[in-house]
Amino acid sequence: MIIQRVVLNSRPGKNGVPVAENFRLEQSTIADTIQAGQVRVKTLYLSVDPYMRCRMNEDTGSDYLQPWQLSEVADGGGVGVVEESKHDNLAEGDFVTSFTWPWQTVAILDGSLLQKLVPQLVNGRLSYFLGAAGITGLTALLGVREKGHVAVGANQTMVVSGAAGACGSLAGQIGRLEGCSRVVGIAGTDEKCSILIQEMGFDAAINYKKGNVAEQLRKLCPGGVDVYFDNVGGDISDTVISQMNQNSHIILCGQISQYNKDVPYPPPLPPDTEKIQKERNITRERFLVLNYMDKHEASILQLCQWIQEGKLKVRETIVEGLANIGAAFQSMMSGGNIGKQIVSVSK
Ligand code: NAP
Repeated sequence: MIIQRVVLNSRPGKNGVPVAENFRLEQSTIADTIQAGQVRVKTLYLSVDPYMRCRMNEDTGSDYLQPWQLSEVADGGGVGVVEESKHDNLAEGDFVTSFTWPWQTVAILDGSLLQKLVPQLVNGRLSYFLGAAGITGLTALLGVREKGHVAVGANQTMVVSGAAGACGSLAGQIGRLEGCSRVVGIAGTDEKCSILIQEMGFDAAINYKKGNVAEQLRKLCPGGVDVYFDNVGGDISDTVISQMNQNSHIILCGQISQYNKDVPYPPPLPPDTEKIQKERNITRERFLVLNYMDKHEASILQLCQWIQEGKLKVRETIVEGLANIGAAFQSMMSGGNIGKQIVSVSK
């Protein structure tokens, strides 16, 4: 059977900015028949995520991430529908997902590596299983719960960087649902800031590309910052940390501003910021959503419940066509997305 697939065409280099041309669409073939235990799936949605930047390097710098190989098919989070099954627990028409879905239109996969999806949990919005009801939502929820020390009635102010992105937009809303009294986002455009306030219920938002972030933060967080959900690192984080309170908490989710640089993860704080962190006893522990697998199932149900109740507002930026996945990745890495960046493969 003839299929389309996307392979890694070239590496951007550890310090390079990734571009669409780092990926290549090509025609390939898969077997016409499947073996016992296998399923043939049609790809519906693929996820593009910042961690993939590390997979473009020869060495990802992490034990849990494998590098993509040149001229081999890329992979990541995906959702699809079973077209043919020789696996006992899966049938034609079932919707399934995997963290290692190949970037191709149709694939033959080991059925035991797929999770069956219940579309009703997300009101039929299957792509949500890659975002708000998937690893992104889990990251936001478990990040807040495991590292945020958020408590109802504690009158805490939370600041979120990368706030209009997939994790950030959920993290701010979850911070509020879990008890923060004030939530302030930092994002890269006025449009993103207005969506955060008008749709997502943030109290205020700062466009970090305009004006003075420190000054605006001081004005918008008069009682200082108690919880900082950090997606970006770098200068923005140094500014936020300088306004954090004694015994406050950083949720070290990601450091996207450093991903095109050859630095260790997490990157060490500059000396002045580290001094503030130590003097004020600010926690900054590494957080990795994959370390909480035992909490994933219950947390997904919580996220789905909030989505169904309208308590968690979800935004997606959907790009059509497998051919455009490289461009979608490039765009997401440079701020072109609002909410979760998804590639729709079916059309
Ligand atoms: P995302 O926020 O939807 O997309 C990336 C966003 O980052 C862009 O839209 C852009 O928005 C912002 N950005 C890019 N370069 C920046 C820079 N130099 N400075 C400031 N902002 C920049 O991506 P996501 O999937 O939600 O991931 C967010 C973070 O969470 C990433 O760091 C990712 O690695 C991390 N993550 C961690 C875990 C975990 O287990 N710890 C799991 C999943 C994801 P602007 O317009 O605002 O610049």
